[in-house]
Amino acid sequence: MKEVVPAPPAIVHNETAEIQALFTRNVIPTYGRFNIALSHGSGSRLWDVTGKRYLDLGGGIAVCVLGHAPAAITETLVEQSRKLVHVSNYYYHAPQGLLAGALVELIGPGKCFFTNSGVEANEGLFKLARKFGHDEGRFEIITATNSFHGRTLAAIAATGQDKVKKGFEPAVPGFRHIPYNDLAAARAAISPATVAILIEGIQGEGGVSPATPEYLLGLRQLCDEKKLLLLLDAVQCGHFRTGRFQSFQRILEGVPGGEHFLPDAISMAKSLGGGFPIGAFWVRQPYADLLGPGSHGTTFGGSPLGCAVALKILEVIRAEKLADNAREIGAWLQSGLEDVARKYPTVIQSVRGLGFMLGIELAANLTPPEEGKSIAAGFANLLHAAGLMTIPAGTHIIRLLPALNLRRDEAEEGLRIIETVAARLAA
Ligand code: PLP
Repeated sequence: MKEVVPAPPAIVHNETAEIQALFTRNVIPTYGRFNIALSHGSGSRLWDVTGKRYLDLGGGIAVCVLGHAPAAITETLVEQSRKLVHVSNYYYHAPQGLLAGALVELIGPGKCFFTNSGVEANEGLFKLARKFGHDEGRFEIITATNSFHGRTLAAIAATGQDKVKKGFEPAVPGFRHIPYNDLAAARAAISPATVAILIEGIQGEGGVSPATPEYLLGLRQLCDEKKLLLLLDAVQCGHFRTGRFQSFQRILEGVPGGEHFLPDAISMAKSLGGGFPIGAFWVRQPYADLLGPGSHGTTFGGSPLGCAVALKILEVIRAEKLADNAREIGAWLQSGLEDVARKYPTVIQSVRGLGFMLGIELAANLTPPEEGKSIAAGFANLLHAAGLMTIPAGTHIIRLLPALNLRRDEAEEGLRIIETVAARLAA
């Protein structure tokens, strides 16, 4: 039969634009997002909705510890959800008790409280510190410049970066900032109101800066001397990313006195649930019962589902020796990146970090690769075009926070792409 109506012109179906439009209309625009809409993943691979494939060295900002869609997590979610997804914290259940026991075994004698995120874990540390100093009228917590502790009102007051605080004044009182890795500054900042010092073992959002062994040991001594709690935010740098469960354990390896080091409390999240939202804080004895009945709580924290996933992740990390993998492939990647930095010093100024927490510092005077964007965001976009995902930090740092099961051939591929982009910018 003869067509009476001519066929309509081909319409280019742009799913990325459609998803972006949904966000523009309906999602509060707090995030600066890249022009990529993701569809699915497998291991360290991600695909966007156009079918483009990426190697993911960003790991969802240190979250996807076993990669994307790992069978172990899927199966645990299915199995546990058939038994029990949620019960209120008025009751006991095995997964929460077992997970707390596993974390205590990995850190040291103490107890755990479970949250849903990193910032909630830090809120727990703030409350612990206030409770500790309450009867003496002490409440002030010292934190570091360039630190990042999350986005609640107290956590932005704790964070040592002005950009997160702007527009939300007045700040929650009781936080004072000192330069990181400066023990003398810590000592000088202590006032009669000081109750705790909180630092990240490796600053993440601040640009991947590890604490020095002297700083950690010195802070411990200072806190003992002044009766302060030493609090560590391990939300980003923890969970075997450095090759040991906690970054301080790695930083202090082989350092005299390091084997006895323990902070008084540690916040955790991100990799703990591998993508399932769960956080925790651990508190050392004799402070583990300071937060007594009725003093703190959460509806969802420590659910059977979240705890079962976190337990499975610990089991897989142990069985597949993923801490060793992070240490070994991380060291190989870091040394490869240092070679690239030596070859293209006008593009890469330095490389720092430990294991699978690496920072590439781009040269300060590099022309931004993309107009109107920071050097780091422009560089990340060039990497995207070449099929690699990373995480910018600030204006000049590119972070690599991959899955702990990243393979050597994948690391080689990532390094090749970074070198190609660096060479192009150096030309
Ligand atoms: N602490 C550190 C060191 C972090 O890197 C982050 C998040 O990036 C947080 C706390 C906040 O964690 P969340 O985003 O899960 O609240």
